[in-house]
Amino acid sequence: MAAKRKSEARTELLAEIGRLADLAIFGTLSETYRTCGSPGCHCHRGGPKHGPHLNVSYRGDNGKTTGYYVPKAAEVDIRAGIMAWQELQDRLRQLAELTKEQVLRCAKGGKAQ
Ligand SMILES: [Zn+2]
Repeated sequence: MAAKRKSEARTELLAEIGRLADLAIFGTLSETYRTCGSPGCHCHRGGPKHGPHLNVSYRGDNGKTTGYYVPKAAEVDIRAGIMAWQELQDRLRQLAELTKEQVLRCAKGGKAQ
């Protein structure tokens, strides 16, 4: 591991968490292919279906899985947001690890009899 001071690592993590939190979008991406509304279209006769259409699904407040269709114009930002969410989870875990170490170190140094 790099010989970086703990407090410095902490400051960097907090800055990154702030940046990622500003972008993050919660959910899982999936791509679907669909048939369209015109009966004469190739998609109804065994030809390729239309897509991919980007969808985001996530667990809502009531515990049920819900989701939404992502319009083409929003695809890049939605993808970036969902990636940011995943990175955010990772950084939060790293921060929690530093906090845990810090608390345990304090407990040993300070209160040990
Ligand atoms: Zn079609």
